[in-house]
Amino acid sequence: MSLAERVMELSKRLFRIEDADSADPLNFDSSPGLYIHIPFCPDFCSFCPYNKTKYGAELTDRYLNALKRESDLEKIEHFSSIYIGGGTPSYDLDLLRGVISHFKETTNGEIALEIHPADVSSKRLYEIRETGVNFVSLGIQSFDDSTLNSMGRKRQDSGVSLSSIAETTSAGFDFVDVDLIFDYQLDRRRIVEDLKTAFSYGPEQVSVYPMMRFSDTAFKNTKNDPEKELEILEELENVALTHGYVRDSLWTFRKRGERRKYSSVSREFFMGIGTSASSFNGKEFRTNTFSLDEYFSSLETGRIPARKIIKMGRFSAILYYSFWALYGGRLDLGSVEEDFGKLPLRMRCLLHSAIASGYLERKKDIVKPTRKGTRKLHIIEEWLTYNFIDRIWTDLRREARDHFASLESTL
Ligand code: SF4
Repeated sequence: MSLAERVMELSKRLFRIEDADSADPLNFDSSPGLYIHIPFCPDFCSFCPYNKTKYGAELTDRYLNALKRESDLEKIEHFSSIYIGGGTPSYDLDLLRGVISHFKETTNGEIALEIHPADVSSKRLYEIRETGVNFVSLGIQSFDDSTLNSMGRKRQDSGVSLSSIAETTSAGFDFVDVDLIFDYQLDRRRIVEDLKTAFSYGPEQVSVYPMMRFSDTAFKNTKNDPEKELEILEELENVALTHGYVRDSLWTFRKRGERRKYSSVSREFFMGIGTSASSFNGKEFRTNTFSLDEYFSSLETGRIPARKIIKMGRFSAILYYSFWALYGGRLDLGSVEEDFGKLPLRMRCLLHSAIASGYLERKKDIVKPTRKGTRKLHIIEEWLTYNFIDRIWTDLRREARDHFASLESTL
Protein backbone atom coordinates (compact mmCIF):
# COMPACT_ATOMS: atom_id res chain seq x y z
CA MET A 1 0.00 0.00 0.00
CA SER A 2 1.41 3.43 -0.94
CA LEU A 3 1.99 6.10 1.70
CA ALA A 4 -0.93 8.18 0.42
CA GLU A 5 -3.22 5.11 0.55
CA ARG A 6 -2.03 4.39 4.10
CA VAL A 7 -2.86 7.96 5.19
CA MET A 8 -6.30 7.76 3.55
CA GLU A 9 -7.03 4.35 5.09
CA LEU A 10 -5.94 5.60 8.50
CA SER A 11 -8.11 8.70 8.10
CA LYS A 12 -11.22 6.61 7.50
CA ARG A 13 -10.64 4.71 10.75
CA LEU A 14 -9.54 7.67 12.85
CA PHE A 15 -11.99 10.38 11.84
CA ARG A 16 -15.52 9.14 12.48
CA ILE A 17 -18.25 11.67 11.80
CA GLU A 18 -20.90 11.61 14.55
CA ASP A 19 -24.18 13.44 14.90
CA ALA A 20 -24.25 15.94 17.73
CA ASP A 21 -27.56 16.47 19.51
CA SER A 22 -25.99 18.70 22.08
CA ALA A 23 -22.54 20.13 22.58
CA ASP A 24 -20.61 21.63 25.46
CA PRO A 25 -18.55 24.81 25.19
CA LEU A 26 -15.13 24.09 23.68
CA ASN A 27 -12.02 24.46 25.83
CA PHE A 28 -8.87 25.84 24.26
CA ASP A 29 -5.42 25.81 25.86
CA SER A 30 -4.52 29.10 24.18
CA SER A 31 -6.40 31.83 22.29
CA PRO A 32 -7.94 30.35 19.14
CA GLY A 33 -8.64 32.18 15.89
CA LEU A 34 -12.28 33.27 15.56
CA TYR A 35 -14.11 32.43 12.34
CA ILE A 36 -17.45 34.22 11.82
CA HIS A 37 -19.73 32.95 9.05
CA ILE A 38 -22.12 35.43 7.43
CA PRO A 39 -24.30 33.24 5.18
CA PHE A 40 -26.14 35.92 3.21
CA CYS A 41 -25.72 36.32 -0.56
CA PRO A 42 -27.87 38.45 -2.87
CA ASP A 43 -27.45 35.81 -5.63
CA PHE A 44 -26.05 32.31 -5.80
CA CYS A 45 -23.21 31.06 -8.04
CA SER A 46 -23.70 27.62 -9.60
CA PHE A 47 -20.26 26.28 -8.58
CA CYS A 48 -20.59 27.26 -4.92
CA PRO A 49 -20.69 24.57 -2.20
CA TYR A 50 -20.70 26.96 0.75
CA ASN A 51 -23.55 27.42 3.15
CA LYS A 52 -25.53 30.44 2.04
CA THR A 53 -28.97 31.96 2.41
CA LYS A 54 -30.71 34.50 0.24
CA TYR A 55 -29.98 37.94 1.68
CA GLY A 56 -32.87 39.60 3.48
CA ALA A 57 -32.35 42.84 5.46
CA GLU A 58 -34.98 41.66 7.97
CA LEU A 59 -32.76 38.70 8.97
CA THR A 60 -29.59 40.54 9.82
CA ASP A 61 -30.37 41.88 13.33
CA ARG A 62 -31.57 38.48 14.42
CA TYR A 63 -28.43 36.88 12.97
CA LEU A 64 -26.13 39.36 14.73
CA ASN A 65 -27.88 38.65 18.05
CA ALA A 66 -27.53 34.92 17.46
CA LEU A 67 -23.77 35.29 16.80
CA LYS A 68 -23.41 37.20 20.06
CA ARG A 69 -25.37 34.53 21.93
CA GLU A 70 -23.28 31.74 20.44
CA SER A 71 -20.02 33.39 21.45
CA ASP A 72 -21.43 34.03 24.96
CA LEU A 73 -22.24 30.32 25.27
CA GLU A 74 -18.69 29.40 24.23
CA LYS A 75 -17.25 31.79 26.88
CA ILE A 76 -13.99 32.58 25.07
CA GLU A 77 -12.72 36.04 25.85
CA HIS A 78 -9.66 36.41 23.65
CA PHE A 79 -8.92 35.39 20.07
CA SER A 80 -5.62 35.38 18.20
CA SER A 81 -7.32 36.84 15.10
CA ILE A 82 -10.73 37.26 13.48
CA TYR A 83 -11.72 35.95 10.05
CA ILE A 84 -15.09 36.90 8.56
CA GLY A 85 -16.22 34.72 5.65
CA GLY A 86 -19.39 33.62 3.98
CA GLY A 87 -21.64 33.97 2.09
CA THR A 88 -20.94 37.54 1.13
CA PRO A 89 -19.93 39.40 4.30
CA SER A 90 -19.01 42.52 2.30
CA TYR A 91 -22.61 42.99 1.08
CA ASP A 92 -24.30 44.57 4.10
CA LEU A 93 -21.97 47.06 5.78
CA ASP A 94 -24.33 47.70 8.71
CA LEU A 95 -24.22 44.02 9.59
CA LEU A 96 -20.43 43.99 9.15
CA ARG A 97 -20.04 47.03 11.40
CA GLY A 98 -22.26 45.39 14.03
CA VAL A 99 -20.20 42.19 13.94
CA ILE A 100 -16.83 43.91 14.12
CA SER A 101 -17.78 46.43 16.78
CA HIS A 102 -18.95 43.55 18.98
CA PHE A 103 -15.88 41.33 18.52
CA LYS A 104 -13.09 43.83 17.82
CA GLU A 105 -11.97 44.14 21.46
CA THR A 106 -11.53 40.38 21.72
CA THR A 107 -8.39 40.36 19.56
CA ASN A 108 -5.14 42.20 19.04
CA GLY A 109 -4.46 40.19 15.88
CA GLU A 110 -5.60 40.76 12.33
CA ILE A 111 -9.23 41.20 11.28
CA ALA A 112 -9.68 39.52 7.90
CA LEU A 113 -12.62 39.82 5.54
CA GLU A 114 -13.72 38.12 2.32
CA ILE A 115 -14.82 40.74 -0.23
CA HIS A 116 -16.97 40.16 -3.33
CA PRO A 117 -15.70 42.20 -6.33
CA ALA A 118 -19.19 43.61 -6.95
CA ASP A 119 -19.12 45.21 -3.48
CA VAL A 120 -15.97 47.19 -4.24
CA SER A 121 -15.92 50.96 -4.59
CA SER A 122 -13.42 53.38 -3.10
CA LYS A 123 -16.08 54.68 -0.66
CA ARG A 124 -17.02 51.19 0.48
CA LEU A 125 -13.39 50.08 0.87
CA TYR A 126 -12.76 53.17 3.00
CA GLU A 127 -15.76 52.25 5.17
CA ILE A 128 -14.52 48.68 5.48
CA ARG A 129 -11.09 49.90 6.58
CA GLU A 130 -12.74 52.19 9.12
CA THR A 131 -14.32 49.16 10.82
CA GLY A 132 -10.83 47.84 11.63
CA VAL A 133 -10.51 45.24 8.86
CA ASN A 134 -6.86 45.12 7.78
CA PHE A 135 -6.55 41.83 5.84
CA VAL A 136 -8.82 41.21 2.85
CA SER A 137 -9.38 38.44 0.37
CA LEU A 138 -10.91 39.53 -2.92
CA GLY A 139 -12.89 36.68 -4.51
CA ILE A 140 -12.14 37.53 -8.14
CA GLN A 141 -12.19 33.88 -9.34
CA SER A 142 -11.44 35.02 -12.93
CA PHE A 143 -10.86 38.02 -15.19
CA ASP A 144 -12.41 36.19 -18.12
CA ASP A 145 -16.12 36.59 -18.96
CA SER A 146 -16.65 33.07 -20.29
CA THR A 147 -14.98 31.53 -17.20
CA LEU A 148 -17.13 33.68 -14.90
CA ASN A 149 -20.21 32.59 -16.85
CA SER A 150 -19.26 28.93 -16.59
CA MET A 151 -19.18 29.34 -12.78
CA GLY A 152 -22.61 30.97 -12.77
CA ARG A 153 -20.99 34.02 -11.18
CA LYS A 154 -23.52 36.79 -10.68
CA ARG A 155 -23.03 40.58 -10.26
CA GLN A 156 -19.58 40.29 -11.86
CA ASP A 157 -18.01 40.48 -15.29
CA SER A 158 -14.40 40.99 -16.38
CA GLY A 159 -14.78 44.77 -15.99
CA VAL A 160 -15.84 44.36 -12.34
CA SER A 161 -12.92 41.96 -11.76
CA LEU A 162 -10.42 44.49 -13.12
CA SER A 163 -11.79 47.58 -11.39
CA SER A 164 -12.16 45.76 -8.04
CA ILE A 165 -8.55 44.54 -7.99
CA ALA A 166 -7.27 48.00 -8.93
CA GLU A 167 -9.29 49.65 -6.13
CA THR A 168 -8.59 47.02 -3.48
CA THR A 169 -4.82 46.84 -3.98
CA SER A 170 -4.55 50.61 -3.65
CA ALA A 171 -6.94 51.03 -0.70
CA GLY A 172 -4.27 50.81 2.03
CA PHE A 173 -5.07 47.42 3.59
CA ASP A 174 -2.12 45.70 5.30
CA PHE A 175 -2.58 42.56 3.22
CA VAL A 176 -4.54 41.77 0.07
CA ASP A 177 -5.13 38.21 -1.11
CA VAL A 178 -6.75 37.59 -4.49
CA ASP A 179 -8.63 34.32 -5.05
CA LEU A 180 -8.69 32.67 -8.48
CA ILE A 181 -10.29 29.39 -9.54
CA PHE A 182 -9.32 27.24 -12.49
CA ASP A 183 -11.07 24.33 -14.11
CA TYR A 184 -8.66 21.86 -15.72
CA GLN A 185 -11.30 21.24 -18.42
CA LEU A 186 -10.99 24.80 -19.71
CA ASP A 187 -8.17 26.20 -21.82
CA ARG A 188 -5.22 26.48 -19.42
CA ARG A 189 -4.06 29.72 -21.05
CA ARG A 190 -6.97 31.39 -19.24
CA ILE A 191 -5.67 30.68 -15.77
CA VAL A 192 -2.14 31.63 -16.81
CA GLU A 193 -3.46 34.96 -18.08
CA ASP A 194 -5.62 35.40 -14.95
CA LEU A 195 -2.61 34.83 -12.73
CA LYS A 196 -0.44 37.28 -14.66
CA THR A 197 -3.19 39.89 -14.46
CA ALA A 198 -3.52 39.39 -10.69
CA PHE A 199 0.27 39.68 -10.19
CA SER A 200 0.36 42.89 -12.23
CA TYR A 201 -1.59 44.66 -9.45
CA GLY A 202 0.91 43.59 -6.78
CA PRO A 203 -1.30 41.94 -4.11
CA GLU A 204 0.61 40.33 -1.25
CA GLN A 205 -0.79 36.90 -2.16
CA VAL A 206 -2.71 35.15 -4.91
CA SER A 207 -4.55 31.90 -4.09
CA VAL A 208 -5.35 29.62 -7.01
CA TYR A 209 -7.84 26.83 -6.35
CA PRO A 210 -8.84 24.00 -8.64
CA MET A 211 -12.60 23.93 -9.20
CA MET A 212 -13.94 21.37 -6.71
CA ARG A 213 -16.93 19.38 -7.87
CA PHE A 214 -19.05 19.26 -4.74
CA SER A 215 -22.42 17.55 -4.47
CA ASP A 216 -25.29 19.98 -4.81
CA THR A 217 -23.46 22.17 -7.34
CA ALA A 218 -23.73 22.41 -11.11
CA PHE A 219 -20.43 20.48 -11.36
CA LYS A 220 -21.47 17.40 -9.35
CA ASN A 221 -21.61 15.08 -12.38
CA THR A 222 -18.03 15.66 -13.50
CA LYS A 223 -14.77 14.64 -11.87
CA ASN A 224 -11.55 16.32 -10.86
CA ASP A 225 -8.34 15.23 -12.55
CA PRO A 226 -5.62 15.75 -9.92
CA GLU A 227 -2.81 14.91 -12.35
CA LYS A 228 -3.86 17.60 -14.84
CA GLU A 229 -4.42 20.08 -12.01
CA LEU A 230 -0.93 19.38 -10.71
CA GLU A 231 0.57 20.02 -14.14
CA ILE A 232 -1.26 23.35 -14.28
CA LEU A 233 -0.19 24.34 -10.76
CA GLU A 234 3.43 23.56 -11.63
CA GLU A 235 3.17 25.71 -14.75
CA LEU A 236 1.73 28.51 -12.61
CA GLU A 237 4.64 28.12 -10.20
CA ASN A 238 7.03 29.00 -13.03
CA VAL A 239 4.88 31.97 -14.06
CA ALA A 240 4.93 33.16 -10.43
CA LEU A 241 8.73 33.04 -10.23
CA THR A 242 9.07 35.38 -13.21
CA HIS A 243 6.68 37.86 -11.53
CA GLY A 244 8.37 38.00 -8.12
CA TYR A 245 6.07 35.51 -6.36
CA VAL A 246 6.81 32.11 -4.83
CA ARG A 247 4.51 29.16 -4.33
CA ASP A 248 4.41 28.77 -0.57
CA SER A 249 1.61 26.29 -0.05
CA LEU A 250 -0.42 23.92 -2.17
CA TRP A 251 -2.52 26.62 -3.76
CA THR A 252 -0.99 29.99 -2.76
CA PHE A 253 1.61 32.28 -4.31
CA ARG A 254 3.09 34.91 -2.03
CA LYS A 255 5.12 37.98 -2.94
CA ARG A 256 8.82 37.20 -2.53
CA GLY A 257 9.98 38.39 0.91
CA GLU A 258 6.45 38.69 2.33
CA ARG A 259 6.36 36.92 5.67
CA ARG A 260 2.68 37.26 6.52
CA LYS A 261 0.05 35.10 4.92
CA TYR A 262 -3.69 35.04 4.51
CA SER A 263 -5.48 31.79 5.06
CA SER A 264 -8.54 30.50 6.76
CA VAL A 265 -6.66 27.26 7.48
CA SER A 266 -3.41 28.74 8.81
CA ARG A 267 -4.80 29.05 12.32
CA GLU A 268 -3.93 25.90 14.22
CA PHE A 269 -6.92 26.11 16.54
CA PHE A 270 -10.08 27.99 15.76
CA MET A 271 -13.58 28.57 16.97
CA GLY A 272 -16.26 29.10 14.35
CA ILE A 273 -19.58 30.81 14.97
CA GLY A 274 -22.53 31.18 12.61
CA THR A 275 -24.35 28.65 10.44
CA SER A 276 -22.05 25.93 9.07
CA ALA A 277 -19.01 27.27 10.94
CA SER A 278 -16.44 24.70 12.09
CA SER A 279 -14.23 24.65 15.17
CA PHE A 280 -11.12 22.67 16.13
CA ASN A 281 -9.57 22.69 19.60
CA GLY A 282 -7.07 19.86 19.27
CA LYS A 283 -9.52 17.27 20.60
CA GLU A 284 -12.56 17.64 18.41
CA PHE A 285 -13.61 19.10 15.11
CA ARG A 286 -17.20 20.18 14.91
CA THR A 287 -19.52 21.89 12.47
CA ASN A 288 -22.69 23.89 13.09
CA THR A 289 -26.09 23.38 11.53
CA PHE A 290 -26.61 24.65 7.97
CA SER A 291 -30.20 25.62 8.75
CA LEU A 292 -30.71 29.28 9.60
CA ASP A 293 -33.99 28.47 11.41
CA GLU A 294 -32.35 25.76 13.46
CA TYR A 295 -29.42 28.06 14.20
CA PHE A 296 -31.80 30.71 15.54
CA SER A 297 -33.95 28.27 17.51
CA SER A 298 -30.92 26.51 19.11
CA LEU A 299 -29.48 29.79 20.32
CA GLU A 300 -32.81 31.19 21.44
CA THR A 301 -33.15 28.15 23.70
CA GLY A 302 -29.56 28.37 24.93
CA ARG A 303 -28.12 25.43 22.97
CA ILE A 304 -24.84 25.41 21.04
CA PRO A 305 -25.81 24.77 17.36
CA ALA A 306 -23.13 22.11 16.57
CA ARG A 307 -24.51 19.21 14.50
CA LYS A 308 -21.53 17.07 13.41
CA ILE A 309 -18.54 16.15 15.54
CA ILE A 310 -15.33 14.25 14.87
CA LYS A 311 -13.75 13.33 18.21
CA MET A 312 -10.01 12.88 18.06
CA GLY A 313 -7.48 11.05 20.16
CA ARG A 314 -4.00 12.54 20.46
CA PHE A 315 -2.63 10.72 17.41
CA SER A 316 -5.53 11.67 15.14
CA ALA A 317 -5.44 15.28 16.33
CA ILE A 318 -1.70 15.47 15.59
CA LEU A 319 -2.29 13.90 12.17
CA TYR A 320 -5.04 16.43 11.37
CA TYR A 321 -2.94 19.35 12.63
CA SER A 322 0.15 18.17 10.75
CA PHE A 323 -1.73 17.70 7.49
CA TRP A 324 -2.99 21.30 7.50
CA ALA A 325 0.40 22.63 8.54
CA LEU A 326 2.02 20.80 5.61
CA TYR A 327 -0.76 22.01 3.32
CA GLY A 328 0.29 25.49 4.46
CA GLY A 329 3.88 24.60 3.47
CA ARG A 330 5.56 24.01 6.85
CA LEU A 331 5.21 21.84 9.95
CA ASP A 332 7.04 22.97 13.09
CA LEU A 333 7.57 19.88 15.24
CA GLY A 334 8.51 22.08 18.20
CA SER A 335 5.05 23.69 18.06
CA VAL A 336 3.39 20.28 17.72
CA GLU A 337 5.12 19.10 20.90
CA GLU A 338 4.22 22.32 22.70
CA ASP A 339 0.55 21.83 21.80
CA PHE A 340 0.22 18.05 22.08
CA GLY A 341 3.21 16.76 24.07
CA LYS A 342 5.85 14.32 22.79
CA LEU A 343 5.14 12.89 19.34
CA PRO A 344 3.65 9.40 19.61
CA LEU A 345 5.68 6.54 18.10
CA ARG A 346 3.15 6.04 15.27
CA MET A 347 3.52 9.65 14.20
CA ARG A 348 7.31 9.50 14.34
CA CYS A 349 7.22 6.34 12.16
CA LEU A 350 4.88 8.00 9.66
CA LEU A 351 7.12 11.07 9.41
CA HIS A 352 10.24 8.93 9.13
CA SER A 353 8.69 6.89 6.33
CA ALA A 354 7.51 10.05 4.48
CA ILE A 355 11.00 11.55 4.76
CA ALA A 356 12.69 8.30 3.66
CA SER A 357 10.37 8.08 0.64
CA GLY A 358 11.21 11.62 -0.43
CA TYR A 359 7.80 13.20 0.32
CA LEU A 360 9.04 15.41 3.16
CA GLU A 361 12.34 17.01 4.12
CA ARG A 362 13.38 17.97 7.62
CA LYS A 363 15.79 20.65 8.87
CA LYS A 364 15.95 20.58 12.67
CA ASP A 365 12.33 20.90 13.82
CA ILE A 366 10.93 22.17 10.53
CA VAL A 367 9.39 19.69 8.10
CA LYS A 368 8.40 20.76 4.58
CA PRO A 369 6.89 18.87 1.66
CA THR A 370 9.22 18.21 -1.29
CA ARG A 371 7.88 18.65 -4.83
CA LYS A 372 6.94 14.96 -4.79
CA GLY A 373 5.25 15.48 -1.39
CA THR A 374 3.35 18.54 -2.62
CA ARG A 375 1.89 16.41 -5.43
CA LYS A 376 0.77 13.78 -2.89
CA LEU A 377 -0.69 16.43 -0.58
CA HIS A 378 -2.78 17.75 -3.45
CA ILE A 379 -4.19 14.27 -4.08
CA ILE A 380 -4.83 13.62 -0.37
CA GLU A 381 -6.46 17.04 0.05
CA GLU A 382 -8.92 16.36 -2.77
CA TRP A 383 -9.65 12.95 -1.30
CA LEU A 384 -10.31 14.48 2.14
CA THR A 385 -12.50 17.17 0.59
CA TYR A 386 -14.76 14.61 -1.06
CA ASN A 387 -14.71 12.02 1.73
CA PHE A 388 -15.09 14.28 4.74
CA ILE A 389 -15.99 17.87 3.93
CA ASP A 390 -18.41 17.08 1.11
CA ARG A 391 -20.00 14.28 3.16
CA ILE A 392 -20.49 16.48 6.23
CA TRP A 393 -21.80 19.39 4.16
CA THR A 394 -24.15 17.18 2.11
CA ASP A 395 -25.63 15.66 5.29
CA LEU A 396 -26.01 19.06 6.90
CA ARG A 397 -27.61 20.54 3.78
CA ARG A 398 -30.10 17.64 3.67
CA GLU A 399 -30.88 18.06 7.37
CA ALA A 400 -31.40 21.81 6.82
CA ARG A 401 -33.85 21.06 3.99
CA ASP A 402 -35.66 18.47 6.16
CA HIS A 403 -35.84 20.98 9.00
CA PHE A 404 -37.32 23.59 6.68
CA ALA A 405 -39.85 21.08 5.27
CA SER A 406 -40.97 20.09 8.77
CA LEU A 407 -41.39 23.75 9.73
CA GLU A 408 -43.46 24.37 6.63
CA SER A 409 -45.71 21.38 7.38
CA THR A 410 -46.50 22.77 10.82
CA LEU A 411 -47.66 26.14 9.39
S1 SF4 B 1 -19.39 31.90 -4.30
FE1 SF4 B 1 -19.68 33.49 -2.74
S2 SF4 B 1 -21.14 34.91 -3.70
FE2 SF4 B 1 -21.28 33.01 -4.87
S3 SF4 B 1 -22.97 31.91 -3.88
FE3 SF4 B 1 -21.05 31.21 -2.96
S4 SF4 B 1 -20.82 32.40 -1.11
FE4 SF4 B 1 -22.34 33.47 -2.44
